[in-house]
Amino acid sequence: METENGISGEEPCEQCGLCCRIFGPSISPTPENLYTWMEQGRKDILSWFVAFRQEGPPVNCADLTPADLGDVVFTEMRDRETGNYVAVCPFLKRVAKKRYLCAIHSIKPDMCGNYRPWIWGETAFSRCPALRAQEPGRWPF
Ligand code: SF4
Ligand code: SF4
Repeated sequence: METENGISGEEPCEQCGLCCRIFGPSISPTPENLYTWMEQGRKDILSWFVAFRQEGPPVNCADLTPADLGDVVFTEMRDRETGNYVAVCPFLKRVAKKRYLCAIHSIKPDMCGNYRPWIWGETAFSRCPALRAQEPGRWPF
């Protein structure tokens, strides 16, 4: 089953938004993510990221072309007006008092799509309520 934002009904995410609020500003899209957004004309997404290349100064990803992607070393989220780091991922939308959704869920960066904080292991996030709900005896608090 798919929920309205595309999260599988099999996934226990409670959509509290905590992981996105904490880690969202440090997400880094891959060149493949950038290419997808270019193909779809999503400059509204691209403009929130800066690309650091093998040569030359950093450039806003909305100003890149597919031919530039081979030179991209890494990307960072930046405020598209000021160029500063952001405090909150601009794609995180609060839809209720304690419920948040990703506005770009179907095309969000791989880093977000592959993140499974509710599974005990490498990407576990100890403050994720879905993780804590699955392992009620594990937490001493
Ligand atoms: S912290 Fe856990 S429950 Fe909250 S949004 Fe992230 S994955 Fe979902
Ligand atoms: S892009 Fe979406 S899933 Fe990724 S941090 Fe932002 S709101 Fe969360």
